[in-house]
Amino acid sequence: MYYIIFHNDQLLLHDGALPQGEVPPVAIPEGAHLHTLPDLDGEACRAFCISTPLTPLTPEITFTPLRASYDVLPLSHYLMAGKARELMHFDDTVRYCSVCGAPMHWHTDISKVCQSCKREVWPSIATAIIVLITRGDEVLLVRARNFRRPYYGLVAGFLETGETLEECVRREVKEETNLEVKNIRYFGNQPWPYPSGQMVGFTAEYAGGELRVQDEELTDANFFHRDHLPEIPHKLSMARILIDAWLESHGHEV
Ligand SMILES: [Zn+2]
Repeated sequence: MYYIIFHNDQLLLHDGALPQGEVPPVAIPEGAHLHTLPDLDGEACRAFCISTPLTPLTPEITFTPLRASYDVLPLSHYLMAGKARELMHFDDTVRYCSVCGAPMHWHTDISKVCQSCKREVWPSIATAIIVLITRGDEVLLVRARNFRRPYYGLVAGFLETGETLEECVRREVKEETNLEVKNIRYFGNQPWPYPSGQMVGFTAEYAGGELRVQDEELTDANFFHRDHLPEIPHKLSMARILIDAWLESHGHEV
């Protein structure tokens, strides 16, 4: 049995890995929901959260932010921990029925149901696009106001209702940078459990327009030559995966 145990966004690791065994390394708090997740490496997998901070019980137990666990866990374990975190977020934020106000209770492993009107709800996933825009040997990088660190990333934004993903790409690029793009191509996607998103990556080419930064969201936007890039995001992110793929396609070592 694998155990995925969170204290807020901090994942419990045992000897730097997901704890494994018949019993979890810390007790399941009374009243905590024990989540049943899909099997992991052919073994059953459960998850729960602890609300009180722990002083480490043994030297083997450490806590690490989910993002940082990407660097130490196998990818499948990181992704499963992300799924667990999304279910915990759902549990925390969907407690009452939004139609009749009655309490919601767990119904299946991934849904809750209203005790009164029987409405069933699943975690809502926020879909966002992220796009790598090139102009010859240059790439458009932006600095978002909400980035905690001084690195540059890619234009990104949430999908709106009634919009295709490609329309979302055009709209976000126009809103944030005033540019037009062409040859929009799907690249790949990844779950983004911060707290419950799906990042859909695209590539596109500069088509026209004069670069003008949208002050509310960005502090800077510029085309950078592939040989002179500023600090770019961590390996975990779709932004970095897109940038690395672009650099590699130009025969550059990353
Ligand atoms: Zn209801």
